[in-house]
Amino acid sequence: GLEIRLASRPKGWPTMDNFDIAEVEAPQPGEGELLVRNLVMSVDPYMRGRMNEGKSYVPPFQVGAPLEGGAVGEVVESNAEGFAPGDHVLHNLGWRDYAVVSGKHATKVDASAAPLGAYLYVLGMPGMTAYVGLADVAAQQEGDVVFISGAAGAVGSLAGQIAKLRGAKKVIGSAGSAEKVRYLLDEVGFDEAFNYHDGPVVEQLKAAAPEGIDVYFDNVGGEHLEAAISVMNDFGRLAECGMISQYNAETPQPGPRNMAMIVQKRLKIEGFIVMDRAHLKDQFFNEVGAWLRDGKITYRETVVEGLRNAPDAFLGLMRGDNTGKMLVKIV
Ligand code: NDP
Repeated sequence: GLEIRLASRPKGWPTMDNFDIAEVEAPQPGEGELLVRNLVMSVDPYMRGRMNEGKSYVPPFQVGAPLEGGAVGEVVESNAEGFAPGDHVLHNLGWRDYAVVSGKHATKVDASAAPLGAYLYVLGMPGMTAYVGLADVAAQQEGDVVFISGAAGAVGSLAGQIAKLRGAKKVIGSAGSAEKVRYLLDEVGFDEAFNYHDGPVVEQLKAAAPEGIDVYFDNVGGEHLEAAISVMNDFGRLAECGMISQYNAETPQPGPRNMAMIVQKRLKIEGFIVMDRAHLKDQFFNEVGAWLRDGKITYRETVVEGLRNAPDAFLGLMRGDNTGKMLVKIV
């Protein structure tokens, strides 16, 4: 099978040269391990951070070694209790055709309950991120006006729907194209949406929310964050989920110029990482699972075919080629 390796660490925007594709022998599972044929894998913005050297909340990828990330596959061989050939498992060794996974790091998923990609999306890490960001970090209340950036992406499009289902008065989204704005308004159920390329974010946000906003779910940082601070109502909450506008910057970017408003308006601003909120997993599955079953949540996938094209899918994600979740279908 194939595996995709980190060939070199990018400076600024990554390119195809930062990836290597290698043909390797199928690995052998040891005691307590599974051999998994990967079927579908995720590419996610946080992977850009792991391509850099240096300490962060997940260790960096190693040059010359295969990349890692969320994947769902079928068990081919099992030396781990509780798993049998034919089972479908979620694990963290994507970017390769065959993975040897410890039974401890594999989670069985039900292929008849939901399409496999759902475990990497609505019922997986991005869904949980949207849910905990609103329910826990931003403590979103009924009647809040909520602004979400990166709104047509995996986390953002779910956050918009969850905010609405949790009783938001108004949900506003921003995204990078007219098509995405139409998608937000016509299909996802956002009340207001704008294309951030059309003009200053602060002006577009003010026009969409003349009453101000109470919650900002930040996927983007930079100009979006400054605009949100400007338009926030007193005692507003900002859930800092991601800052994708900065991930490919070669030097640290200046912060918002209006930080004094955090004091004047008594704002609460909090960064979070989804894996720290594992105690909310059951609550997430119960609440979002029920909405999904009742047809209250809509979602889209942008699927790239073939493991060989996974680097392209990742680069496309950075450029905004995706609507909803970017996934790679391996088989
Ligand atoms: P998305 O599906 O949203 O894909 C990324 C999107 O970012 C692109 O589609 C693009 O859409 C947008 N984008 C790229 N560059 C810019 C820019 N300069 N300004 C504005 N938008 C840009 O990815 P995810 O849903 O997986 O992730 C969304 C955010 O959530 C990321 O910041 C990610 O790091 C973060 N995250 C955080 C987690 C946590 O635990 N804190 C967990 C998971 C994700 P467009 O066309 O609109 O520009």
